[in-house]
Amino acid sequence: MDKSSLKYPVQVDLENCAKEPIHFIGKSQAHGVLVVCDRTNLNITQAGENASEYFGIPVDELLGKPLSYLLKMPFLAPDFDEDNLPQEVEVNRKKFLVLAHISEESLVLDFEPLAQVQDPFFFQKQLTGILNKFQTARSLEELSSEAAKLTRKMFGYDRVMIYRFDEEWNGEVIAETKNDDLESWLGLRYPATDIPEQSRKMFLKHRVRIIANVHYTPVPLKPEISPVTGKPLDISRSSLRAVSPIHIEYLKNMGVGASLSAAIVVKGKLWGLIACHHQAEKHLDFYQRESCRFLAQMLSTEITLHETSSLLSHSEQTESIRRQLVAQMKYHDNIVEALSRDTVQFLELLNCSGGAIFYINEWELNGQTPGKEQLDSLLNNFIKKQSKSLFWTRNLSALFPEAEEYKKTASGLFSLKISDNKYILWFKPEVVQVVTWGGNPQNKVFYNEKEQRLSPRKSFEKWSEKLTGFSEPWHELDRNTARALRENISHVLLTRQRREIEALNEKLIEANRELELFSYGLSHDLRAPVRGMEGFLKILREDFSNPLGSEGLKYLEMSTGLTQKMNDLIDDILEYSRLGHIERVEKHEVDTTAMLKEIFELFNLSANFPSARIEIQEELPPMWGNRRMLFQLWSNLLNNALKYSSEKEAPVIEVGKTLINGRSTFYVKDNGIGVDPALREKIFETFQRGVGSKFKGTGIGLAIVKRIVEKHEGEIWVESEPGEGSVFYFYLEPQK
Ligand code: ADP
Repeated sequence: MDKSSLKYPVQVDLENCAKEPIHFIGKSQAHGVLVVCDRTNLNITQAGENASEYFGIPVDELLGKPLSYLLKMPFLAPDFDEDNLPQEVEVNRKKFLVLAHISEESLVLDFEPLAQVQDPFFFQKQLTGILNKFQTARSLEELSSEAAKLTRKMFGYDRVMIYRFDEEWNGEVIAETKNDDLESWLGLRYPATDIPEQSRKMFLKHRVRIIANVHYTPVPLKPEISPVTGKPLDISRSSLRAVSPIHIEYLKNMGVGASLSAAIVVKGKLWGLIACHHQAEKHLDFYQRESCRFLAQMLSTEITLHETSSLLSHSEQTESIRRQLVAQMKYHDNIVEALSRDTVQFLELLNCSGGAIFYINEWELNGQTPGKEQLDSLLNNFIKKQSKSLFWTRNLSALFPEAEEYKKTASGLFSLKISDNKYILWFKPEVVQVVTWGGNPQNKVFYNEKEQRLSPRKSFEKWSEKLTGFSEPWHELDRNTARALRENISHVLLTRQRREIEALNEKLIEANRELELFSYGLSHDLRAPVRGMEGFLKILREDFSNPLGSEGLKYLEMSTGLTQKMNDLIDDILEYSRLGHIERVEKHEVDTTAMLKEIFELFNLSANFPSARIEIQEELPPMWGNRRMLFQLWSNLLNNALKYSSEKEAPVIEVGKTLINGRSTFYVKDNGIGVDPALREKIFETFQRGVGSKFKGTGIGLAIVKRIVEKHEGEIWVESEPGEGSVFYFYLEPQK
């Protein structure tokens, strides 16, 4: 958000004006009579003290009487919370227009004298003219000026202005028509407090407000407090509602005798006003006010159209620039180059005079920008401290005093954070403005001793001042554009990272494959020399045992053991590599129980593991796979179970099947040494051993098992309690 609201020189709050309870002002203007009834029985509870002037009946006579006492004719009271249609009535042979509405428990009636009956088509004809004029206006200026002219022509005020609010609710006269003898106020600005917030809110609800005579004497309601609720009556919706004394004084000081204001509302927000001033008193009846409301509404619609179409064309332009930038990013390896050194540059995305990209500790500067050192400080001491990733201001030096040094190039800053070490900044130069105020806004209020309240400024003489340190404002679309660019950049960066990772992965797979081929070749080539060594060791043992003696024979035995181990290693490596090359496993049904028996027979349990007890679950389901591989799988698991529980007094090995996550899962359970939790994953990798030389082994057995399980589209894992034993679980893809 732009934290630097435009600091016009005065921020004196017209406290008492802003807080004035204008809803409950309790008095009416004098050009009509307020009559209030209890909504339940239509008895008159309150009335304006000017009743006798208009009706010829004193207030006191009216109070407590039924409404029919006043209106000797049928009257349609509204029974819901909406304004009623106006009704023409007669009281003592005088014609009135009555506007009725409900306020809490009361029915509020505005009686306005009806001078002459209007030609119902008169305004309709004028409105057709308005539509035509509005639709042919080519610009906002033309449109505003037409609206001012038409309003003046229709209602005959001395001066009609189109008044537009800026972001801080200061107003500017952007179009004007007037009597020749009046001084022009075109281009003048008025501080936000001239039309305080609660008045602006009222304008959103009640679009047209008329002050028929600023010199009127407010008419009190009698009694002041509503007898129905015991509280002051809310008459904010009454068109006769009295005007705040401060506002009346303000108008008097301006030399205005009567006024009419109609709200211009664009996209639900008060955009401006059609403000009409008359030197003498002037009243518009309900029908005229309705025409004015309609005119303001058409003007609002036309302005909305103008703004929307200019937004659209602006967004089309930036969209095409952004698309081009995206194309450039795809083409270039270097993002900074893509954004700043190709046909289209990031600068063009926002209306600015310079920009900078901070990309991993390097600055890339384009156009007019502060220097790199100044930017370092701006980034570290200011931008990085902002909580949001988007930040913009048109008055940087007000927020970051150091920026005073370079306000000529960068009074306006828009910053976009891509990541912690990537930022894009855009700059706008200072544009010194001369603002002409309608009266010195610093003299806006003074304390009025007589009235015991603040009074608005007395002089509205033009008062000019120079505003420095400001740039042109940033466009409302800039935020969306910047956000979209950030997404584009992040996307490009992520895609690149993903590609880099993929390429690395491929390299890794390739390296692994080469390593495997190498070890396969190596193991293969080692086989013959090891066999040779085995042969020679055998000859030594058989034919040369005498000269070797017992010591020599011991070394000979050790050498034979080592060649045996080497053979095992070579076999395992070759087996592991061989499995890696199998693309598809041809599967057959394999009888699990039969296979287990065969394996245990081979192990020669009674000789090798005499104390071990084997428990095989009955009726194990068959497996589906390659017989040789499954044989190897079970052999390795069972061999480990026997081996790593062999030191127990009573080793027990259980083999069975269980259901895990709906899958039929085999398990091999032992009560051996268990697996260290830190190694639970590792032991399935090649050459990973969790034990010392106490237990023989190559460290490849489980890697082979895992490969076999994976070739059968299954999974294997271990659960274990060190010292208590382990359970190896695995499942294979069932027959399809
Ligand atoms: P090896 O048994 O030849 O060392 P394996 O690949 O078969 O190689 O097993 C790897 C490691 O896993 C072993 O060194 C051992 O630490 C651990 N291990 C395997 N099975 C068991 C088991 N049943 N109980 C305890 N530890 C085991």
